[in-house]
Amino acid sequence: MKFEPANKIQDLQYFGEYGGVNPSISDSSTYTFLSAKTMFDTFEGNTEGCYLYSRHSSPSNLYLGEALAAMEGSETANVTASGMGAITAVILQLCEAGDHIVSGRTVYGGTYAFMKNFLPRLQINTSFTDITKPEAVEAFITPETKMIYCEAVSNPLLEVADLEALSSIAKKHGVPLVVDNTFTPMNISPLKHGADIVVHSLTKFINGSSDTVGGVVCGTKEFCLSLKDVNSGAAMLLGSTMDSLRAASVLKNLRTLHIRMKKHSENAMYLAERFEMDGLKVVYPGLPSHPGHETMKRMINPEYGYGGMLTLDAGNLDNANALMEMLQENNLGYLAVSLGFYKTLFSAPGTSTSSEIPEEEQKEMGLSDGLIRFSIGLDQDIERTYKAMRRCMEVLNILPAAVNA
Ligand SMILES: *Cc1c(COP(=O)(O)O)cnc(C)c1O
Repeated sequence: MKFEPANKIQDLQYFGEYGGVNPSISDSSTYTFLSAKTMFDTFEGNTEGCYLYSRHSSPSNLYLGEALAAMEGSETANVTASGMGAITAVILQLCEAGDHIVSGRTVYGGTYAFMKNFLPRLQINTSFTDITKPEAVEAFITPETKMIYCEAVSNPLLEVADLEALSSIAKKHGVPLVVDNTFTPMNISPLKHGADIVVHSLTKFINGSSDTVGGVVCGTKEFCLSLKDVNSGAAMLLGSTMDSLRAASVLKNLRTLHIRMKKHSENAMYLAERFEMDGLKVVYPGLPSHPGHETMKRMINPEYGYGGMLTLDAGNLDNANALMEMLQENNLGYLAVSLGFYKTLFSAPGTSTSSEIPEEEQKEMGLSDGLIRFSIGLDQDIERTYKAMRRCMEVLNILPAAVNA
């Protein structure tokens, strides 16, 4: 059956206190009870629809959580103050001292740093491996392994995880498959392909206006409740709580996500095809030349395409820097980390977002220092953008000789 994330979000109805078409924003950190008994029960987590304290839950955060759960097809979801707030809470909920994680090696720099540098302090160790080789993932599993972790489409190298293959390995060994779907909201619905828990940075495409950080964990009611447990929940106790005002604004932006994702994908595909024809080293999972193309084709919700991220290898760091500066001077995008904005954003991940990864390891995973990561914007006239980008490359002599001639 066709899974339609946008319809699922749109089928939800929340009204404001006075019949407002948007739900009222909860502006309280604490809530009164008419009876002491109800307060006690709420503490115990037993009273549906009652609120206690906004680090635990708030109406605005629940609305946003339910909309994101609808998008991913999960039972429920918990929103958090950042993507890292979601990722670290999930890991610390599932793992304790002595446990082990198998993770993709090309994951978000912050996630990588947390697993590599921080978790060993808690005696939790991670094996990083090539996520596109499920047999390599399985080879690392030990009796101590508590999760398989990957990004559906990885940052920054755009490797595509075969979620079905990874899920069958996870099930065979009785461990959850945790998927960061930040690069491909709506494009890929990981739970449909066997993932157990989905996390997102809402900071990127989902909010889409580069004005806030946020995160979410989508999963079963049981798992999400455990995260909020007042005595043992990692989200509750570590305190990465989203503010209600922000939850309300992210919810409003979420309602146009399907239109934005289609346009991001359409524009990225257009540029990737042209760059490839120009003989440039472009990586985009929508191109048949991408090693993960067939896997992604099998997984996507087709109307949303292959996402808005692509990479281009400018040959070396000097070329990459010169190109990014010139693109910015020509108002074709901004030299900035992050992604999912209306404007194209670009950065050289080797020296920015993936700088947590040691140079040697960057080389090994194919992260060259001339690599530019693009988050393609919502440009109305992408042909005009392409022509202007191409002119910059001509001026800088970055196009292959045959094309310049
Ligand atoms: C940005 C990002 C994160 C971290 O999210 P924050 O909101 O910055 O904490 C995690 N995973 C991926 C793939 C990201 O791009």
